[in-house]
Amino acid sequence: MHIKKVLKFGGTSVGAPERMFDVAKLIRSNDTRIVVLSAVSGVTNQLVEISKCYHNGDKDKAALHIKQLHEKYQGFIAKLYSKEDAKKKAVALLEEHFKFLLNFANDLFTVHEERAILAQGELISTALFQYYLEEIGEKSVLLPALEFMRIDEDKEPMLDYIRENLNIELNKHKDCKLFITQGYICRNSYGKVDNLKRGGSDYTASLIGAALKSDEIQIWTDIDGMHNNDPRFVDKTYPIAEMSFDEAAELAYFGAKILHPSSILPAWQENVPVRLLNTMQPEAKGTLISTNDSNRTYVAVAAKDGIVAIKIRSSRMLLAYGFLRSIFEVFERYKTPIDMITTSEVAVSLTIDDTTHLKDILKELEEYASVDVDKDQTIICIVGNFASESYGHAQDVLKAFSKIPIRMISYGGSKKNISLLINSKYKKQALQSVNDVLFMPQEVLA
Ligand code: ADP
Ligand code: ASP
Ligand code: MG
Repeated sequence: MHIKKVLKFGGTSVGAPERMFDVAKLIRSNDTRIVVLSAVSGVTNQLVEISKCYHNGDKDKAALHIKQLHEKYQGFIAKLYSKEDAKKKAVALLEEHFKFLLNFANDLFTVHEERAILAQGELISTALFQYYLEEIGEKSVLLPALEFMRIDEDKEPMLDYIRENLNIELNKHKDCKLFITQGYICRNSYGKVDNLKRGGSDYTASLIGAALKSDEIQIWTDIDGMHNNDPRFVDKTYPIAEMSFDEAAELAYFGAKILHPSSILPAWQENVPVRLLNTMQPEAKGTLISTNDSNRTYVAVAAKDGIVAIKIRSSRMLLAYGFLRSIFEVFERYKTPIDMITTSEVAVSLTIDDTTHLKDILKELEEYASVDVDKDQTIICIVGNFASESYGHAQDVLKAFSKIPIRMISYGGSKKNISLLINSKYKKQALQSVNDVLFMPQEVLA
């Protein structure tokens, strides 16, 4: 079966009964489509809290959080349905899931139990929404994501497996045009419940769209597309009508929260356009991400926090080939990706954001070099078109950073990206200054 569109609705977009009414209207169409839903906004955070309580052995506090969450849903379903039938089904569904949540009180609590708890948000939101569609007479089928969404031992999605098993599920309902499924959740290489990391519902939508080679993936959220800067920190940002896959992928990877860091890659690989749209303002144009370039010098800026900079200094580095390889091998052994890198004759500085194995990495590096570590760093990533013959961009960018201490600069790694590493305490100031110096003059004149 060819699925024309994959539509993903985020937490805020399903965050209240009224929002779900809107979603039901927005997905109305004659096309075949899969609708991917997040958990109701705030729920995944509450499930994280519950897991923390269990982890700390605080069963009473866990039970209290569970009770509060149950009450929140009871208020939700009271408004969502008007018929007794649907209400009854929803009450029974909630009872089942909340019994499951309470059941961990006597278990050994490991990461596996935590993941099972985190999956409840999407399992509940999709079921509640599908009951609502039933109530209003809209024919749809709930597809269980845990039957087809899978990651391998490196936590990478298995696209062939996803395609094959998703098709098996779809083919069970050949007469249906509308499918609902859970974002974020998956199974891992052990067959256990896992997830695609926070914000992962975008990734689910992109993986489904790519696996099925759909015509379009739509990410419906609470803002009118990808803005030129982070609207949570900066005034006067604006949406960008069109950008290319590589521009969007850089922005997502380097912290634009509107998209999960990896979510553009599957769509890009299969050349499926991604449209970012606003549930609260469906008539807004949003952003179309495709092979078309944005044709702007400065497209947008994003910031990625929680970065650790490591400076590795060794007198042996001077003219020593093989030195960099031995450093990179340490990171490879611990499956830790490096984001930024700068070199001098006697030292190399690089950054990582996954600090799971930091201690071990440092121990190995210290065997043949002296090592300095700076925590609480932020990468400011300016995405644009900086072809090798063009000039003046470094000057513009440095002007924006004239009052901010810079730890590292990376220019020329790709023609799409200029990155700077700063202490996180300067992040807001840096983003605002980049907006004022690199973006505002063009927009004011436009
Ligand atoms: P959802 O719950 O729909 O997945 P998210 O909260 O994950 O929504 O993403 C949308 C939010 O991303 C916006 O409300 C906005 O605050 C934030 N955001 C950060 N950077 C950008 C950007 N460059 N453009 C648009 N939104 C951004
Ligand atoms: N519910 C998950 C989260 O809050 C996934 C998502 O919303 O995309 O991270
Ligand atoms: Mg999100």
